[in-house]
Amino acid sequence: MTVTVRFAPSPTGYIHIGNTRTALFNWLFALKNDGQFILRFDDTDVERSKPEYAEAIKEDVEWLGIRPSRIAYQSDRFAIYASAVEKLKSAGLLYPCYETPDELERKRKLRLARRLPPVYGRDALKLSADDRAKLESEGRKPHWRFLLPNFSADPFAPQRTDVHWDDVVRGPETVDLASLSDPVLVREDGTYLYTLPSVVDDIDMGVTHIIRGDDHVTNSGVQIALFEALGAVAPALGHHNLLTTVSGEGLSKRSGALSVGSLRRDGYEPMAVASLAVLIGTSENVSAMPDMAALAEVFDPKATSKSASKFDPGELDTLNRTLIHAMPFAEAAPRLAALGVEGAIAEPFWLAVRGNLSRLSEASQWWGIIRDAPSGEETVAEDDKDYVRSAFDLLPPEPWSRDTWKIWTDAVKQQSGRKGKTLFMPLRIALTGLASGPELADLLPLLGREETLARRP
Ligand code: GLU
Repeated sequence: MTVTVRFAPSPTGYIHIGNTRTALFNWLFALKNDGQFILRFDDTDVERSKPEYAEAIKEDVEWLGIRPSRIAYQSDRFAIYASAVEKLKSAGLLYPCYETPDELERKRKLRLARRLPPVYGRDALKLSADDRAKLESEGRKPHWRFLLPNFSADPFAPQRTDVHWDDVVRGPETVDLASLSDPVLVREDGTYLYTLPSVVDDIDMGVTHIIRGDDHVTNSGVQIALFEALGAVAPALGHHNLLTTVSGEGLSKRSGALSVGSLRRDGYEPMAVASLAVLIGTSENVSAMPDMAALAEVFDPKATSKSASKFDPGELDTLNRTLIHAMPFAEAAPRLAALGVEGAIAEPFWLAVRGNLSRLSEASQWWGIIRDAPSGEETVAEDDKDYVRSAFDLLPPEPWSRDTWKIWTDAVKQQSGRKGKTLFMPLRIALTGLASGPELADLLPLLGREETLARRP
């Protein structure tokens, strides 16, 4: 059977680094197993779901390097959920309840006072047809609960019912269905909570592995029962730990904190974001992987910690630099061209400057320095001007190569008697307008003799 996974965000905001972890765990799992990846928008909540968020999520997923084989929207599939609802109702597994939130809260407190577990006591199951008709004539509309299979004959006497699975990430897991309330699947207004459409789609789309955050572990107990109630076998399940901010707060789509879009706009490389999002909180070393195939190689869902991990964006800078410093020209070229960096010297330019960049976009500053003028941040000190002028008079004739810098500065050293920083720094400042930067041996041939002479103070 083809391994089929899905990433199922609700398009109610921009995806953040924690959602990215879920998406990538699924994508890497698919890559490792020659599988399929479905991007499924859980947009049954039509009030909060927005097409612009779905579009942004598609872009983010694409930017990360994930290539879905299918994109689906739950809002297109209401008819399929309605038929699953009918199936459950006719099997007596979905029953109408009429309690208001206040009534439920009162019942919960009462149960606690009686030292009973604070779960829903299934009172609505006791309603007769007449009771229901009366409630409805008073204008009450039912919400619908799934009758959990946690009893033998008497639903009012639930018994410990352990659901087990071998979690793809966490190993053996158990949820006791008697510790849970019958979940509401359909709200009073007829809209669906996430539980049922998710299971219906996982069956219909042939999902073989559900990989998601560990905030869904309890849901999995319920959903396994629901898969079975709908005549299916539950897929394999995996729950990875969640990411928090450095100060330990949870991430939320609505707050926009650490959104993929903002990291992209900040100029981070997708593989820096992907490497950190996947490897943090695992027993693997966090290092920058150059591409998805390399990340898939080190990805092992079982190596994931069970407790939440802090995501430190500072670590991204280190990973980003590593990737940029080693990035081959062929990979950088299209993005450099978009910055206006092209032509015969684009490649030697890239190889000269990449080791000094934290972000690829910083290449344009150096391109301006080489092609137009020194940066202007630093100017040659008054005391050094005569020294620099006579140094420029010693510039060797062209053709220039990487050796020209040494030939030139050897001659300057001999004439001026200067050495070390006092020799080099005034020349660096005259040539680039900055006190640090790429090797001057690399920059000099890019400037050429004429442009270099034009920078004589
Ligand atoms: N829409 C759900 C969420 O974002 C999907 C959970 C799941 O993968 O089943 O939490």
